[in-house]
Amino acid sequence: MPYAFCPGCDQRIFLRKDPKVGDMVYCPNCEDQLEVVAVDPIELDWPWDEDEDETTEWEEEEEEDEWEDEDEEE
Ligand SMILES: [Zn+2]
Repeated sequence: MPYAFCPGCDQRIFLRKDPKVGDMVYCPNCEDQLEVVAVDPIELDWPWDEDEDETTEWEEEEEEDEWEDEDEEE
C-alpha cells in the first residue's frame, strides 16, 4: 500500500492504490486536508497556496528621526 508522510507532522498517511497527483488525503493527526503533489516518490502538500497573499505589515517601517536630535553634543 502506498504511503507518504504528512508535511506538517510526519504522520505516515496511507493512500489508495495508484495515487495520482491532485488526490486529496486527510491527515488524522493535523486534521488537515492534503494534496498529492508528486507520486514518485509520493509527496503531500497543503492544497491551499495562498500564503503569499498575506500582506506584510512589517514592510513599511515608520522612520522617525526625532531621536537623532536628542543626543546633541555641546
Ligand atoms: Zn499531519
